[in-house]
Amino acid sequence: ATPTSIMVGTGRAAELGVLFRKGDALQQLQQARVIALDKTGTLTLGRPELESVTTVNGFDRDEVLRLAAAVEAQSEHPIATAITRAGPADLPAISAFESLTGLGVQAKVEGHDLLIGSPRLMAQNEVNLSDLTTEADLRANEGATPLFVAVDGQAAALLAVSDPVKPGTRDALERLHAMGLKLAMVTGDNARTAQALADRLGIDHVTAEVLPDGKLAAITALREQFGTLAFVGDGINDAPALAAADIGVAIGTGTDVAIETADVVLMSGDLRGVANAVEISRRTMRNIR
Ligand code: ADP
Ligand code: MG
Repeated sequence: ATPTSIMVGTGRAAELGVLFRKGDALQQLQQARVIALDKTGTLTLGRPELESVTTVNGFDRDEVLRLAAAVEAQSEHPIATAITRAGPADLPAISAFESLTGLGVQAKVEGHDLLIGSPRLMAQNEVNLSDLTTEADLRANEGATPLFVAVDGQAAALLAVSDPVKPGTRDALERLHAMGLKLAMVTGDNARTAQALADRLGIDHVTAEVLPDGKLAAITALREQFGTLAFVGDGINDAPALAAADIGVAIGTGTDVAIETADVVLMSGDLRGVANAVEISRRTMRNIR
């Protein structure tokens, strides 16, 4: 590769809002066989909204939301923000707050033990979800994330939280597919939710319900299966995956760590930048040969 052609390619990419932070990233990207993408904040906006609340065991909707909002006010997770926004302005004090990464949160509120999160978290705490699983599966099949609320160890409610797909995502994925690339999703979210979104977007392979530590292993497995791999993420829980990928692509609106770790940075969050980057990489390398 001549330095001049690399410079031209890098410059053309920059005009389109794609920063190649390392010269060899431009050369490596054309070798990619699979593009793995984080879900929340990468494929989707990362701004979920509370869509529905279903209560059981005589619990009152507004009361559950008040308690849940108080607990989630302590968490910075986008899911937490959605729940807190849906609660009242005046929230009760909480104590013994704990964030269980990739699973949910727990705390004490007004003398009650609150637990909010995934089915796995509820199973770990032996909460009986049988009255809520039908509704949860229904919501997940629509692409929403089902979250359970337990009060003093008893199932109280199902909260369905939904995160819209970013404008540009569908178009970007279609272009990447047309270039012969495999598409994979790697997410900590519910498997059913992830599969519903993957089906809608035509994503070939889904790895779901991975804990933050597991994203790295998921990347390694995908690379073994498909070959040279680019990973696109926003850095929330996925900085190690960005670092481990053959080409790490960070969303410019993501965390500082992601941007520092990445080989390529998309200045806007628009995934069409990934398709542009691959095209430029292929074109640049063709000119060189
Ligand atoms: P992602 O890969 O989509 O960023 P995370 O690893 O951050 O996923 O979270 C995985 C799952 O953990 C969520 O789908 C949710 O079930 C649960 N979870 C994480 N944080 C919270 C929270 N603050 N409140 C409730 N549930 C949570
Ligand atoms: Mg994310």
